[in-house]
Amino acid sequence: MSLVVKKFGGSSIGSVEMIRHVASLIAADHRDGAKIVVVVSAMGGETDRLAGLAHDIDGNSRGRELDALLAAGEQVSAALLAIALKKSGVDAVSMTGAQAGIVTDDAYNCARITAIDRSIIDRRLEAGCIAVVTGFQGVDANGNITTLGRGGSDTTAVALAAELEARECQIYTDVDGVYTTDPRVEPQARRLEQITFEEMLEMSSLGSKVLQIRSVELAGKYNVPLRVLSTFRKGGGTLITYEREGGTLEDARIAGIAFNQDEAQLTVRGVPDHVGVAARILGPVSDANIEVDMIVQNVGSQDGVADFTFTVHRRDYKRAFAILEKNVATLGAGRVRGDDGIVKVSVIGVGMRSHAGIAAKMFQTLADADIDIRMISTSEIKISVVVKERHMEKAVRVLHEAFGLAKEGLDTARGGGLHRADRGAKTG
Ligand code: ADP
Ligand code: ASP
Ligand code: MG
Repeated sequence: MSLVVKKFGGSSIGSVEMIRHVASLIAADHRDGAKIVVVVSAMGGETDRLAGLAHDIDGNSRGRELDALLAAGEQVSAALLAIALKKSGVDAVSMTGAQAGIVTDDAYNCARITAIDRSIIDRRLEAGCIAVVTGFQGVDANGNITTLGRGGSDTTAVALAAELEARECQIYTDVDGVYTTDPRVEPQARRLEQITFEEMLEMSSLGSKVLQIRSVELAGKYNVPLRVLSTFRKGGGTLITYEREGGTLEDARIAGIAFNQDEAQLTVRGVPDHVGVAARILGPVSDANIEVDMIVQNVGSQDGVADFTFTVHRRDYKRAFAILEKNVATLGAGRVRGDDGIVKVSVIGVGMRSHAGIAAKMFQTLADADIDIRMISTSEIKISVVVKERHMEKAVRVLHEAFGLAKEGLDTARGGGLHRADRGAKTG
């Protein structure tokens, strides 16, 4: 009998009643003969609560002790779910990351799984038992508890599915699949039957937190069929695949729209336009472990002088600003300007590769809505723009509408629906 890994996020197990409900779902599948490994997150809000406690004591708490603390949340929910399963007559055992043989490197707070000893879970499965494994955590070579970064239970689930050669990795959450954009921002958002790994990876890395990026990378790398589905509503959810069925190369489908509010923008004005100046601006920023996202350099009206603009995570804004201020004099540059009230909005779809006009349509749509674009970056399958934060919801909605992603009137049977919008793009 083939194996399924089922992961339940914090939003699915926010209370004892919800844990009972999840246990009943699992028990029903178990009785139908499925071999099941369950991965759980902490109960909704619990990881934030624990982090808050540490923060109250030390605002800069990081590293080993923070991981020991945060990992506790998952241990509570795994034990409670195992208790609920046993109560409903199903044999189950809770396991911490260490007990399940999940070994990571020692990068506390953002560790990577390096090995899984599958024999431990295999033995339980052979005995007809359901293994309920804590997500988000592992143990390093020295026995220290580590965590995999926020949202990391998704990655635990995919890693287990890959190692145990599961038929499917099912991510149960509070939405019934991956939508064209976050349904909390655009109620017209539509569930996708399928999305490619490539598109999902862009959606996740550009701000759609429905799946942790690393989990999508792993699923793509090990070809684990990954499905996002609802804990509360029946249905097939969204399958993340290599190829979309029913689509063609000519299909200019946009998979969806992502947005990221965690951004801030910095500009160094009047930079002498010399070879190597970009490296001299960004060198000290990356030495301080600040990740830079979008970069734009534009030569200004005065000869030989440029403005250099880039974005960073909002939490790094003040540090990056201070580093730049320190360096302007040595660079011979003008002044530093910054804005931590910006967001990045992105349109994503593999169909973009073969279709010009999508960028033009995006920019025109935003212009028509009086939304000023401050930065642009593109890749093969995505276009991102930076806009003022106050325009975020409007930008998402007008783009969603312009690209024909809304619920009604679409050719959903093909998993597409952008043919209408595509024609618009070509003629408009
Ligand atoms: P869990 O607690 O199950 O891990 P998350 O909060 O991490 O749940 O992820 C589910 C949430 O992701 C949804 O409630 C939804 O608001 C958000 N989300 C963001 N973008 C999307 C999208 N494109 N499709 C579906 N959900 C999305
Ligand atoms: N509980 C952890 C978090 O809140 C991991 C997860 O939910 O996947 O980030
Ligand atoms: Mg999550």
